[in-house]
Amino acid sequence: MIQLANEIIAGRRLTGEDDLAVFLTADLEELCKGADSIRAGLCGEKADLCSIINGRGGRCSENCKFCAQSAHHHTGCEEYGFLSAEELLEGCKSSRENGIDRYSIVTAGRTLEGADLEKALAAYKKMHETYPEMKFCASHGLMKEEDIRKLYEAGVTMYHSNVETSEHYFPEICTTHTYEDKKEEIRRAKAAGMTICSGGILGMGESWQDRLEMAAFLAEMKVDSIPLNFLIPIPGTPLGEQKPLEQEEILRIVAIFRYLNPMAYIRIAAGRNYFSDGGKALFLSGANATITGDMLTTTGQNTAQDRDMLENLGFRLKAAKSA
Ligand code: SF4
Repeated sequence: MIQLANEIIAGRRLTGEDDLAVFLTADLEELCKGADSIRAGLCGEKADLCSIINGRGGRCSENCKFCAQSAHHHTGCEEYGFLSAEELLEGCKSSRENGIDRYSIVTAGRTLEGADLEKALAAYKKMHETYPEMKFCASHGLMKEEDIRKLYEAGVTMYHSNVETSEHYFPEICTTHTYEDKKEEIRRAKAAGMTICSGGILGMGESWQDRLEMAAFLAEMKVDSIPLNFLIPIPGTPLGEQKPLEQEEILRIVAIFRYLNPMAYIRIAAGRNYFSDGGKALFLSGANATITGDMLTTTGQNTAQDRDMLENLGFRLKAAKSA
């Protein structure tokens, strides 16, 4: 594994055509060490922090099996219309004060259009003007290219659209839209000038083969940031009884995504609380980015503790700023 890591640092790139099964039997410690050296060699010590705000909650027409916000499941999640520009700006201000690199509005629903799109554009413009050094990301489902372009013009530089799992397993997770819809969305966002954040959720009953395929697919799409969520089963969803992944499985997954996507931000999202120390080992196994603070519908990690942990591991962070 160390030799493979060195080859990747020297320029080799793995694809779905390579024998990826070697990752499944490799010694975990060596695998993680190799992933950490790829991260250090190709990405350096910068860690990227982002925070998200749920800009419009619940009542989603789609039937993603893991999601608390789908109207197809009964989870009792909070339902509300598009937040005000003041609420969104306030979240941005506190992210900036905490030294967070990126701030993203996420909205439940198949897409974002009409009056809510106008509200989002006005909010992004306002935030971009007020805090020009913040980076803005957007996650609004399957949007038209012309609307993604409007987001770009309003100051958003990264579009988020998770592929969730492998193409093969996707129909087990969602039937109201397809993997092809996701691919098209990523292509449209790229065409609109955006960098891409796309990953998914692990621990939804997929096989190791699905995980390898997903990692190889994201490499093929050349995505810039890969959020990895480790399923937190939500009562009332079809995956509410799913058995959580073991820590060792999670570490192996993170390392594999790094070998296949050596230059991307491997971004840890939901599920860090499966590790009592905030997931230190994840950042020694190839990860170099994380969502900090709460997730959309589950509790996340405290930003001050995340900063301490990452700095102690030798990562460099954006400075926190006072108001
Ligand atoms: S993941 Fe997104 S699209 Fe799927 S049900 Fe949840 S809010 Fe809707």
